[in-house]
This record gives sequence, structure tokens and C-alpha cells, in this order.
Amino acid sequence: MLTTAPRGTRDILPEEAAKWRYLEDNIRECCRLYGYGELRPPLFEHTELFQRSVGEATDIVEKEMYTFEDRGGRSITLRPEATASTVRAYLEHNLYAGPQPVKLYYMGPMFRYDRPQAGRYRQFSQFGVEAIGVQDPAIDAEVIALALDLCMHLGLKDLAVELNSIGCPTCRKEYRQALLMYLSEHKDKLCQTCLGRMERNPLRVLDCKEEGCRTLTTAVPQMLQYLCTECAEHFQALQRCLEAVGARYTLNPAMVRGLDYYTKTVFEITWSGLGAQTAICGGGRYDGLVEECGGPPTPGVGFAMGLDRLLLALEQSGVTLPTASKPAVYITTVSKDDNQEAFTLLTTLRRAGISADKDYRQASLRAQLKAANRSGCHFAIIVGGEELERGAVAVRNMISGEQKEVKQEQLIEVLYESLKEDAR
Ligand code: AMP
Repeated sequence: MLTTAPRGTRDILPEEAAKWRYLEDNIRECCRLYGYGELRPPLFEHTELFQRSVGEATDIVEKEMYTFEDRGGRSITLRPEATASTVRAYLEHNLYAGPQPVKLYYMGPMFRYDRPQAGRYRQFSQFGVEAIGVQDPAIDAEVIALALDLCMHLGLKDLAVELNSIGCPTCRKEYRQALLMYLSEHKDKLCQTCLGRMERNPLRVLDCKEEGCRTLTTAVPQMLQYLCTECAEHFQALQRCLEAVGARYTLNPAMVRGLDYYTKTVFEITWSGLGAQTAICGGGRYDGLVEECGGPPTPGVGFAMGLDRLLLALEQSGVTLPTASKPAVYITTVSKDDNQEAFTLLTTLRRAGISADKDYRQASLRAQLKAANRSGCHFAIIVGGEELERGAVAVRNMISGEQKEVKQEQLIEVLYESLKEDAR
């Protein structure tokens, strides 16, 4: 137990971390282009925030939250998602008083007591955007376009966008009645949880992963047929915006998404190569959420993208991702007596902005040069011997194999030049 990370969590080692940084850099650039500012909310919040926003009858709140009482007796939950935190921050900092929409993005770990499998973890990373304060269907299209542009820029092809509208509280009332009637006629097929959920929030049944409930939901009445004029127009306008920018989508009238706060637009982006866990990104509009959290009536729209899955998808589709950086220079010594000289040189190079490392095992020069080769460095420097007596070191180009003597005082200049030249 002491030597394994908790189930559903994992370490990201340097080779892997380089790929994550690449993803993160691309995300930041994409958000800059689209005008979203970074929000860094805390990793835990008051439990009530998620109960109120994500919804009491959802899988997340019913089964998946990491909730505990802190030493002060407060109920705290590790965030299972970050839309709730974004809305809380929007209210806490009176962002509604400034220009709208407020466009924010976040990135980082989320925690859900999920059943771990490939692409599904208990600690996973999400990148998400939220545009709070406007109703314009073009901003629904903007967040979808942002997600697609990011994936496309990273080289992920053949994504599928599924789109639906789940209406507003007004039109949903009528739909809820129709759905309830249908479900009560088929109660025998519903799982225990859904039987309990039926009265509280029948829409949640559509999202249930249990076999019986799933078979039922294929023939269920569809929300799209119950949309009020405003919701129907919003949905039409969104589709026109998507078409105008070449964002392809299919309508999926059965999709409701697993969180209670959605209104009108819901969407999911999937990549079929991921096996059982095909969903990379999910989002939608949440026009009642700010008010539900105690603020003024304020519309909002956003998505969350699973970065663990995005990375898996990129790897599986053969996209080349960067590897961990290699030192430009690796320092070796002729004898143990040259160790301090080598360390001084190492520090000088680093302070001059040249990435450098050395052998710390006090091994033979041959073994050290082998290590230099393994490190992937560009130049190996040999400190000691006659060269050192002459105030110089031997510099070996590990790519061409060429070796030359360089005066210590000229070393940084020579390295700068050679590294620049070889980078061309
Ligand atoms: P959600 O917040 O449930 O709408 O999920 C948004 C995205 O987060 C999904 O499409 C997945 O890519 C990712 N995601 C959700 N849960 C997990 C999990 N347990 N492990 C890995 N990724 C997840």
C-alpha cells in the first residue's frame, strides 16, 4: 500500500509531463485567441455548492463525491467539476457588476469516486471554459468552436459533435409530464436509483448507465418536440452559427448530460478510438445556475474537456508529442580530483542559461561518456587532464562526434554559437 498510489490515481513522470505541458501550452494559447482569462479556483469547496449546482439527484452528488468534515466541522468536498466554482467566484468577486460576458477558463485536477478503467480515473484533469452573462447563441457556438479548434490544432481528427437542447424550466415542465407518464408505464425496467429519482428529476433517468434504463430511453419522448419558441429559436440560431464556421455536428435528442444545471444547449464531443470512454468534452448552457447559487438571474455557457482522455486520443491517433527536454551539455571528468572544477563549470553554464548536467557517480571517464550519450545531450564536456592545465576543456559534439579544445573563458560564447547553428 505504501508503494502504490491510491486506486484511480497515478503519477505523471517527466516523459509524460512533457506531453501535458504541451497540451497546457496549447490550451493557454487557444484561450488567449478566444479571449478567455484564467481562473484558478481552490481544489475544494463547501459541499453545499455542488449539491446545489450539480444537483442532488445526479450520479456525481449521489455516488461520486469525495466529501469529508474538516477539523472545524465544515462539510468540504474535493471539486468533482469546476463550473460550480467558477460561478461561485463570479459571485464572490462581483464580476456581474463589470462588462459581460465574463469569459474564464480553468485547468486542473477533479475528483470523482468513479469506477477506474482505461480513460477513467478518480483524480483526472479537466480544462474548461465558461462564458457568463449573455444569452447570445453565438457564444454557445463560440465555446464549441473553441473546443474543436483546440483539438484540430493538436492534430486530433474525426471528432464527433453531438448536440441537443433540453429547453428551459418553462418548456421542460410539459416535457417532464410526458416523460413521467412514459416512465411510470415502464417502471419494471428502471433501476432502484432511477425509481427514486423519477419524481425528483425524471430527466436524470435518461442519463443512467444501467442496462435496463438505457434500453428504455431509446423510445422515450424527446425534449426537442417540446421546446418553447424562445428555446427553439436559440437552438436554430446556434446551429446556423456552427454551420457558418464549418463545425459539423449531429443532433442527439436523447442526450441530457449528467449535471442538473443545464438549460437549452447541451453538447458532447467524442472520439471513437477511445473504446468505452469516448467522451472527450461535454458542456452546455446553464441559465439558472448563477441564480441557484444566490446571484442575480444570469445566463452562462461552457464546457469541460477531459485532458487525460484527450492525451490518450492524441497518442492513439499517432500524433507526435514532445518528449522531456534533454540537457544541452553533459559534463564529465578525467579524474575524481576534477570534480569541484566540473561542478563550478556546471553552475556557470546553468547561470548563463545553458541547460547542463554532470555525472555524479564518480565513475570512469568511459562510463561517464556513456551516461552523457544516454542523457541525449548535444555536447559532452571533458574536464581534466592536460586541457585543464592549459585552462581549457574538451568539447565533444555528440551528434557529429567531432571533438575540440576550447579555452574556458571562451566556452560560453562557443556553446551559444554552436547550439544556435545546430538548431538551424
Ligand atoms: P463532465 O464534467 O462529466 O461533463 O465531463 C467532462 C469530461 O471530463 C468528459 O467528457 C471526460 O473527458 C472527462 N471526465 C469525466 N469524468 C472523468 C473521469 N472519471 N476520468 C477521466 N476523465 C473524466
